[in-house]
Amino acid sequence: MYWSNYHSHCTFCDGRSSMEDFVRFAISRGIKKYGFSSHAPLPFLTKWTMLEDDFADYEKEFKRLKEKYKNKIELYLGLEVDFIHGCSDIRNEFFRDKKLDYTIGSIHYLDKIRDNEYWTIDGGFREFNQGLNLLFGGDIRLAAKRFFEITTFMIEKGGFDIVGHFDKITYHGLKYAGFNPADKWFVDLVIDTLQLIKNKGLLLEINTKSLTEHGITYPNQLFYPIIREMGIPVMVNSDCHYPTNVTDGFATAYKNLKQAGFLTLHQFFDGEWRAVEFDENGLL
Ligand SMILES: [Zn+2]
Ligand SMILES: [Zn+2]
Repeated sequence: MYWSNYHSHCTFCDGRSSMEDFVRFAISRGIKKYGFSSHAPLPFLTKWTMLEDDFADYEKEFKRLKEKYKNKIELYLGLEVDFIHGCSDIRNEFFRDKKLDYTIGSIHYLDKIRDNEYWTIDGGFREFNQGLNLLFGGDIRLAAKRFFEITTFMIEKGGFDIVGHFDKITYHGLKYAGFNPADKWFVDLVIDTLQLIKNKGLLLEINTKSLTEHGITYPNQLFYPIIREMGIPVMVNSDCHYPTNVTDGFATAYKNLKQAGFLTLHQFFDGEWRAVEFDENGLL
């Protein structure tokens, strides 16, 4: 039995420890397949994305660790690539010559709040609430609709392999009275977006970053039966920023997926994704 994780951060972006620390913790927690997915550079400076100039070092350090730990763990190199509507995506010049095992397409920013400043849905609540008031008159439903609309734009544009934290808008969204992901209007948005993921042949991660603290995965557990019925290939990722969190939430998520009727999780084998059987203790 073993675990895998393809969504992880380290000090090349906003992760809190070195690549090597993450590798050591991954090995000690029984992970056999581990991928780095630092936040890719953006056209503007942030405190959480990789600098363009650092990519060469990211690749170099990865290669060193891949060789050093080759008998203990399979390491993969990826990036988590932002889609910012009208501003930045994986079609940017930067990505053209990059040799990556896979990429994750994610949304952290929705619309512009003011010049050169976008509203982040993944920061603190204060910032989230301010942007919500400014852009959507405080209406979380309008923001959720916009979130899925932009997700649709990202999927239509394509160029990446895995859809990252599918319904991340629920992270802060659930703090608003009257917001319930089980409501029909929300489920309809989810189903339409999942259908597009299915049509485009993309992979979907089950992101456990908020499972321990908030009890939810992205996508929410509510949607597991729909995802299974559609036959969308999934894997479980921790989106860890601390080495101690490399397998956070995995046992629960694997168990819940099993209960929802999933038989396999997709795993990376030297250039291709294949279905692997699992139970609540890991991959078989
Ligand atoms: Zn992310
Ligand atoms: Zn991430």
